[in-house]
Amino acid sequence: MTTTQGAEPGTEQGTEYDVVVAGAGPVGLFLAAELRLGGALRVLVVERLAEVDETIKAGWINHPSVVALNRRGLLPELAAVREAVQERLKAFRDLKDVDGDTGSGSGSGSGSGSGRPERPRFAGHFAGIMLDPELFDDSGPEWADADPAAGPGLVLPQAELERALGRWAEQLGVEVRRGVELTGFTQDADGVAVQLDERTVRAGWLVGCDGGRSTVRRLAGFAFPGTAPEITGYQALVELSGAERLKAGWHTTDVGTYVHGPFPGRVLTVEFDSPPADRYAPVTAEELEASLRRVSGVPEVRVTGVRTATRFTDNARQATEYRRGRVLLAGDAAHVHSPFGGQGLNLGLGDAMNLGW
Ligand SMILES: Cc1cc2nc3c(=O)[nH]c(=O)nc-3n(C[C@H](O)[C@H](O)[C@H](O)COP(=O)(O)OP(=O)(O)OC[C@H]3O[C@@H](n4cnc5c(N)ncnc54)[C@H](O)[C@@H]3O)c2cc1C
Repeated sequence: MTTTQGAEPGTEQGTEYDVVVAGAGPVGLFLAAELRLGGALRVLVVERLAEVDETIKAGWINHPSVVALNRRGLLPELAAVREAVQERLKAFRDLKDVDGDTGSGSGSGSGSGSGRPERPRFAGHFAGIMLDPELFDDSGPEWADADPAAGPGLVLPQAELERALGRWAEQLGVEVRRGVELTGFTQDADGVAVQLDERTVRAGWLVGCDGGRSTVRRLAGFAFPGTAPEITGYQALVELSGAERLKAGWHTTDVGTYVHGPFPGRVLTVEFDSPPADRYAPVTAEELEASLRRVSGVPEVRVTGVRTATRFTDNARQATEYRRGRVLLAGDAAHVHSPFGGQGLNLGLGDAMNLGW
């Protein structure tokens, strides 16, 4: 039986891949590299964006992800990035009198002053409730594979991780094509004909790592039940006027939660009373400014420029199955939830490591 999903495929070019991965986010790239290590000969990753997305998303890699990256020898390369990030964070801390933790999913760091080795002060958080780094004990065997300098996790912007994973995947022989969109596919008992813009390639398997609004998930007919959004959050890198009036770090007010820092211009707000009117509309400076003023209670703060911005919710959904025939899902394509707990990317890297072998 042959089933067709999405646009009707055009002329097949006879190109054969073991696996086509849709999406060069962190999960797609890590999965593609794992597939090569697992013995897949020809792996193609297609990504509709021409360049790595610089929008601030995840900023902190948790311990299981650190272990996974360490097993692949990727930590030394990422450590250099981490050092540069730590310098930026330190510059902001020196500038601002930071209240409490600046751990924001982007972390903060200095020694504990207890005579123990220097380690990031940020030990992770659960939905904004900070974990106490003084209670962190890395003497157990479960920490043996970790990078001692990373402590309980690694401060690392998602875009930097994606760049590193892109280099790693290509080094292992993965073909990564940017500026190419998956628009449809046809599957039969032996494989999948994948339509990429105007051309079609043939693969043994197709994996949708194409994010929370996954085309692969929709076209393959995976059920994606869950709960509707109830909150509105923003994370952005902006130019601010009146920034000195905003306190740095995490702050909860009567209206919501806001975070300023851990580097200049990074702001995050969460308001708990309603979902956004339009989740997919571009985020404007006016919208960010209004939210920041409401939550912080600082009417003088102005957003004068937006470098990157994203709107998020607590929409929580999970596919009821991760495989339909020769089509699979991983990462946000398979499960989405509030980013407030800082877990999504980490879960996806786990999916990739498990699926790879
Ligand atoms: C504000 C915010 C903060 C976050 N903070 C954290 C955090 O602190 N910790 C954490 O672990 N996670 C965090 N997350 C979640 C994390 O960013 C996601 O879980 C992660 O990006 C998922 O990776 P992915 O590779 O599955 O999907 P994505 O990163 O969404 O990548 C999917 C890729 O597929 C491409 N694509 C889509 N459709 C197609 C198509 N048809 N053809 C070709 N390419 C396509 C997209 O362009 C994209 O590059 C946060 C998210 C947000 C929004």
